[in-house]
Amino acid sequence: MKKVLVANRGEIALRVIRACRELGLQSVAVYSDADARASHVREADEAVRLGPPPSSESYLRGDLIIEAAKSVGADAIHPGYGFLSEREWFARAVRDAGLIWVGPPAEAIAAMGSKTAARTLAVAHDVPVVPGTTEPLRDAAEAAEIAARFGYPILLKAAAGGGGKGMRVVREPSQLASSLESAQREAKNAFGDDAVYVEKYIEGPRHVEIQVLADAHGRCIALGERECSVQRRHQKMIEEAPSPAVNAELRKAMGAAAVRAAKAAGYVNAGTCEFLLAPDGQFYFLEMNTRIQVEHPVTELVTGVDLVQWQLRIAAGERLPFTASIDPRGWAMECRITSEDASNGFLPSTGRIQYLRIPGGPGVRWDAGVGIGSEVSLFYDPMLAKLIVWAPTRAEAIARMHRALDELTIDGLETSREFHLRVMEDEEFQRGAIDIQWLERRLDSLVGARAPREQVEAAAIAAALLAERDRMQRVPRGAAAAGPGAAGPRPELSPWARAARSQGLRDA
Ligand code: ADP
Repeated sequence: MKKVLVANRGEIALRVIRACRELGLQSVAVYSDADARASHVREADEAVRLGPPPSSESYLRGDLIIEAAKSVGADAIHPGYGFLSEREWFARAVRDAGLIWVGPPAEAIAAMGSKTAARTLAVAHDVPVVPGTTEPLRDAAEAAEIAARFGYPILLKAAAGGGGKGMRVVREPSQLASSLESAQREAKNAFGDDAVYVEKYIEGPRHVEIQVLADAHGRCIALGERECSVQRRHQKMIEEAPSPAVNAELRKAMGAAAVRAAKAAGYVNAGTCEFLLAPDGQFYFLEMNTRIQVEHPVTELVTGVDLVQWQLRIAAGERLPFTASIDPRGWAMECRITSEDASNGFLPSTGRIQYLRIPGGPGVRWDAGVGIGSEVSLFYDPMLAKLIVWAPTRAEAIARMHRALDELTIDGLETSREFHLRVMEDEEFQRGAIDIQWLERRLDSLVGARAPREQVEAAAIAAALLAERDRMQRVPRGAAAAGPGAAGPRPELSPWARAARSQGLRDA
């Protein structure tokens, strides 16, 4: 393997290009017209244009991507996450074109592609799944009979599901028929397949997932868990490793279950088994993501294993040197910095990044696909960057994340930065008392907390301006602090910061 085409954009394309460079591999970027000047295009050794901005005409065009790889003499394709990464047909097409696929075999993607097939496989290999069925429901009468057997509440799920589509919680028998009908309709529209099955609805679980690495020579290891319970509408927002709810014994049991599931699917490369962890400590396999995940850096920081490098090395035929599962050291946390306005219902925000201050210092990692001058459009995912920190303990990781978020400045569009600051300040989050409904329950108070803070900031600015005026008039320092903003948190701003704030260039 000498030259790798990266079939993706944004931060993950850059992440793969960096891994290639460290391994002495050539890298090739592909891009749509919207990304002609994007970071991944500038950083790669070569770049090939795919087509117009919509993904369906660029990053989802498997045929053009394989053609591009051939035209530049690339011998491997890394799909990143999203786009074509979990399309069985694309993995197969890459292989059929005589190229190396940096991912699991097409057969393993297929085995984990349907929720019911994955459940059947898990059960056969002693991996616990949420109680429920694996056969599609015939009609409402059958659904009622099964629901009565498992007890309400139940969850109707599309077999072909993804992104929370075709999923309905049913709390009582009277809602069953209409919920089934709407779940089937949604599944049909989204996936062209209306098969829906039943799971018991687990109350107050955490989302805990296990990272696995498998080589092509039969070795498969677990690299511990990631806690991803802070979600909004099934979208993860903050991830950490390890999980506050997992001890060494549970980690071992979940790791062993994940390895059994991966082996059962004939898995090779990096993959993730997602589990629900119930308040009683019972865990249930949900599905396997057959690709690298957005949140992989938190595992890298607590294990010291470079997962993207290992994806490439495994694809090139190398053997894993680790004989046993790897335990975490310290604590890592990731905030997804998106171009969304949390105080305004997470409304997407677009524009040009006019100013960017990237956090630094001990234990801080910044994985981004944007820089100053980047245009953020509505064509692609709103994630601009991932801010990741490492510290010896969870409390120190939270303090470090807060400090890093405080340093971060992105001007030109709205971002989720403020929202993440509020989460880091939240007492329940600090205690680790989170489950998958936590954020939805807490959202109003988190987002609502912004107004008083802004008042504090305004008072601080007023105090700073007063102090500056008085300094110019050579009034001794302190005399100015008698005004209403005297208690503001940072009256001692530099002239640069004061100028920026008074012009609204920097919000905190
Ligand atoms: P999708 O592939 O559509 O995202 P998942 O099976 O991963 O569907 O489920 C999405 C989310 O729904 C999970 O992350 C979890 O938050 C919640 N969920 C899934 N199954 C259950 C269940 N049986 N009980 C409670 N919550 C569930």
